[in-house]
Amino acid sequence: MKKDYSKKITTSVLIVMILWTLVPVTAQTGELKVSLGVERINANTLQLTADSAGANNFSYRFDMRIMGTGEDYTIIRDFSSEPIFTWGGARDGELYEIVVHGVSEQGYIGCYCVFGNTDHSAINLLTGLNMEIHAEGNAVHVTAVPQGGTHVIYALQYRKVGDNNYNELNASNPYQVSPSFIKPLDNGDYEIVVHAIDMAGGLITYYGAYRPFTLPAEESPGTDPHFWESRKSTWIHPLKNGWDMRHDPTIGGRQFGAPRGNSAHAGIDFIADPGTQVIAMTDGTVINIYNFYAGTQAVEVKNTDGTVIRYGEINPQVNIGTAVKQGDLIGCIIPNNLDGLSMLHLEIYLGFDKNNQVVTGPLTQVSNSTEYWYVLMRNYLRRADLIDPTEAKDLTIKYSP
Ligand SMILES: [Zn+2]
Repeated sequence: MKKDYSKKITTSVLIVMILWTLVPVTAQTGELKVSLGVERINANTLQLTADSAGANNFSYRFDMRIMGTGEDYTIIRDFSSEPIFTWGGARDGELYEIVVHGVSEQGYIGCYCVFGNTDHSAINLLTGLNMEIHAEGNAVHVTAVPQGGTHVIYALQYRKVGDNNYNELNASNPYQVSPSFIKPLDNGDYEIVVHAIDMAGGLITYYGAYRPFTLPAEESPGTDPHFWESRKSTWIHPLKNGWDMRHDPTIGGRQFGAPRGNSAHAGIDFIADPGTQVIAMTDGTVINIYNFYAGTQAVEVKNTDGTVIRYGEINPQVNIGTAVKQGDLIGCIIPNNLDGLSMLHLEIYLGFDKNNQVVTGPLTQVSNSTEYWYVLMRNYLRRADLIDPTEAKDLTIKYSP
């Protein structure tokens, strides 16, 4: 019975919102019908009134929970034929979800409402709604920005341009107290709608906001030709004689941004045979060498254009302080000692922030899951000037016999 009921709650909420019905709210299945009215008597007292039709022998139970907590409902009055219950346990200013369960010999029916326990004279009216919207990796992040409002609840809907119907963010629980929504979506064009409903004191005030949205909202500067434009003809591929072309560095988990547990792959992988020489893509100076992954090491080179390249999962053939010319040997590919794969893991950093100031600090920054200046946000755990290195696959390969 209880499981069946949760569905009815959802349906009832939708009916309340879409029809803009003021309390009392009503639910009906077949002949049976039950309604619930809520009235604020004073700050701590709500009067709940159940009404019904379709049967003569209803008894009613009242449950409540504070909205947004996700806790189980609490029974505040167990089953009784008395339809009116004066609840003295309310707290001023709280937003409640209140349910009446009605049971008769003809069957069961429930009804639900949201009630903001606020004195009418103290209500800060909802007078408008805006939204902020941006892409976060492969998700859209929508924030509702209400003007005024006392007990506002929110719902998000979205549809792909061309589709007939909107989708609920969460069909089983479409309303939430938080104004923030994150929804992973495929790339494409969408219409996004936020609904805000103020439930204060039994008044219902509604506003909706609409925005077209394209995911990704903008190309990441890392894949922007501006970074690679000037380098496509001046940098060279980091693997002498190239990589194993059966392993595309843009798919199969080798690509930039690929999932790595809870984080994202901060580089691309060029699979190659052990012993393959890794060479400098451009002129620079070796600034760091350290253990990197599963028995392999990484070499950091600060280039003369200010960029920093991390040549990872290799066996270094240089020392810290070595000046390298483009094409000079950096190291050799070796198998890692976990799965035996051998590759160059390549990461690139611009070296400058958005104000054109030089960026310093370690390339790996496990505290940085959110701030990236030049790539779409994912949980790379890297320095904020990370660049998408994918275009490096198209650089000229220096073959030698
Ligand atoms: Zn990698």
